[in-house]
Amino acid sequence: MHSFLSHLECSWTGERFDPDQLINLSPAGKPLLARYDLEAARRAFPREALADRPPTLWRYAEMLPVRDPAFRLSLGEGFTPLLPLSRLGADLGLPHLLAKEEGLNPTASFKARGLCLAVSRAAELGAKALAIPTAGNAGSAMAAYAARAGLPAYIYVPQDVPRPFVAEMKALGAQVTLVDGLITDCARFVREGVAEGRWFDVSTLKEPYRVEGKKTMGYELAEQLGWRLPDVIVYPTGGGTGIVGMWKAFAEMEALGWIGPQRPRMVSVQSAGCAPIVRAFQAGQRLAEPWQGAATVADGLRVPAAIGDFLIIDALRESGGTAVAVDDEELCQDMRALGRLEGLFPAPEAAATLSALRHLVADGWVRPDETVVLFLTGNGLKYTHLID
Ligand SMILES: *Cc1c(COP(=O)(O)O)cnc(C)c1O
Repeated sequence: MHSFLSHLECSWTGERFDPDQLINLSPAGKPLLARYDLEAARRAFPREALADRPPTLWRYAEMLPVRDPAFRLSLGEGFTPLLPLSRLGADLGLPHLLAKEEGLNPTASFKARGLCLAVSRAAELGAKALAIPTAGNAGSAMAAYAARAGLPAYIYVPQDVPRPFVAEMKALGAQVTLVDGLITDCARFVREGVAEGRWFDVSTLKEPYRVEGKKTMGYELAEQLGWRLPDVIVYPTGGGTGIVGMWKAFAEMEALGWIGPQRPRMVSVQSAGCAPIVRAFQAGQRLAEPWQGAATVADGLRVPAAIGDFLIIDALRESGGTAVAVDDEELCQDMRALGRLEGLFPAPEAAATLSALRHLVADGWVRPDETVVLFLTGNGLKYTHLID
């Protein structure tokens, strides 16, 4: 199971870089993406090889960047269930409605996938300490994997973050700093520490490997659906690594000969109180203006500016997808709808996918015969303040 990682590529200019160095953004200030020797991988890594591998994201190790198996940290992340939502589906007139239950990951969100890879690879490349600006879940996931790697973890989080996150991060051994401001203000503290040589920055899309962890959601979806992809994927978007990662996974799997050219329509969901990607998509732009006065109860969606904006928007357009903003009241109601009707307790960001789907069904954008997957990106237990 050796990695076929070959080089890093600037997502803006296409310029190539050595992957075996600790690195953040490209000289153009844009995300670097990991590239693999797909021809060699196509010969050496048939999808049948997966059959008897353990049910974690490391089953795709050849298409992941960590070279030395000793650095492949694991807390059992990935290979989450793809559950039929038959009662909600009946309500909505969608008999093929599914949920990818990402709340079952370590630290209860899909952030575990990205940080599992980012921390593993940073440790392999010799990082001595790690720092992150976060709305909550990314910090918890980083703390868990940093503990596993024996690396100090420094977390900067808005001071209004729900208390369970702070308790979790501290219990996992991280140094937590509460910041008076948004995630973008937290990022300033992390940048200052980078300039002083205090730590390596594992912010979303500011290092190349969180997106590699997130892309495994795309691999799993194909594997769990018998090497077909759904018609529509509905995804809550903050920094956007989930959409960018899955879109990358589909291209890789086609190059590996695992799937054909068919692609799902990708739907990005944001909160009406912070919807820079929705606004840019609807205005026909490729780069998103920063959102002023960002406010939403879905903390993971309170990201006023995303460095990978053009990658998210490109994926939406190329897929024939769309972008939808939903109100906080709707998504809070849909936290309960998923609980009452399906026995799931999603985070507010995750519940927003159901609210968005209601709009898409009402508009006729989703047809009754289509297979739709809602990404339930996190569990609701850290957000009990939203339920009375
Ligand atoms: C961070 C987060 C999101 C947003 O994910 P991105 O990949 O940053 O767009 C969605 N849901 C939950 C539960 C999150 O923690």
